[in-house]
Amino acid sequence: MKFTYVTLFENLISPYFEDSILKKAIEKNLLSIDFYNPRDYTKNKHNKVDDYQAGGGAGLLLNAQPLFDTLKDIKSKNPNAYFIFPAPAGKPFVQVDAKRLAKKEHIVFVNGRYEGIDERVVETYADEIFSIGDYVLTGGELASTVMSDAISRNISGVLGNEDSLEEESFENKLLEAPSFTKPTIFENKSIPSEFLKGNHGKISNLKNEMAKLKTKYFRPDLFSRSDARR
Ligand code: SAM
Repeated sequence: MKFTYVTLFENLISPYFEDSILKKAIEKNLLSIDFYNPRDYTKNKHNKVDDYQAGGGAGLLLNAQPLFDTLKDIKSKNPNAYFIFPAPAGKPFVQVDAKRLAKKEHIVFVNGRYEGIDERVVETYADEIFSIGDYVLTGGELASTVMSDAISRNISGVLGNEDSLEEESFENKLLEAPSFTKPTIFENKSIPSEFLKGNHGKISNLKNEMAKLKTKYFRPDLFSRSDARR
């Protein structure tokens, strides 16, 4: 998988890949990243990438020409690239999207700044538009990094133990059951006794019941869509 980031602020994204699991994924050649800066594609004397909004309105927009030319260049070099625009107006990014997008070979994240992007660029290039929540961020970089992380976990070989994906939250529309480690009693609180008896069938049933209860309590909306409800 390759992630390309179109951004004015590469340094807001690149450090995230310099440690931990995603660093290892790059070292193992499971993942590669690169960056394009629309400022390198400007045709004006001062390399300006923003402008006032047509018809008025507060704040500046990323204007069409530099972004359009950046994306045209990327597309001509990578005909199979898939263009994702993070935006508050997008559909909510969820785990099934992370799994589905992990099968793509090349994703380009086009990051807005200021009051956003001239809509004509979005109309021309967006394959999908995603929001990471109902709040407004300063730019798309955090949203792209969040989506990249969630997608990367689902690329074969990125996680040391892929079994952990199967029990994770949002599988079967349930949250993961509560988990514990040693010691078995800590601050007068014990772990469920079944976990100590080594009967894996019973432990699995118990975990399943706890996952249902946890989901019902914390995310009734998710539980109402789960098969576990029936
Ligand atoms: N004026 C825009 C609006 O009201 O919808 C907000 C623009 S925001 C300040 C600048 C950029 O941050 C957006 O173009 C987008 O790339 C990114 N962004 C902000 N909030 C986001 C969210 N919830 N999800 C994904 N991207 C977001």
